[in-house]
Amino acid sequence: MISLAAILRRVCPSCRRGPIFRGWIAVHEQCPHCGLKFEREPGYFLASMYISYALSVPLFLLLLVALWKLTHWPLRKLLIGTQLVFLLFVPWIVRYSRSAWIHLDRHFDPES
Ligand SMILES: [Zn+2]
Repeated sequence: MISLAAILRRVCPSCRRGPIFRGWIAVHEQCPHCGLKFEREPGYFLASMYISYALSVPLFLLLLVALWKLTHWPLRKLLIGTQLVFLLFVPWIVRYSRSAWIHLDRHFDPES
């Protein structure tokens, strides 16, 4: 069963105790609590980019509208400003997309 709370807490999908990350973006090779291997193969987290994209687009649009409401800047300046603000959110997007990917992958393919 996928747990949204476990994804948001960024903990192991198996024991839900061990942290997935050992730094801002670096992932433990295996769960420090139960030993579950997080990165199953080289390039494993490339698929998390789909989740990252799904998180990024609504966030970017939300920031764009919020910045436009606050500043009424012309489009070019608004896009540049939104991109700069968006960069602050990138580490969180990477963390949550990787966490969600590990949980989804382990849910649908628990054995390999
Ligand atoms: Zn674990």
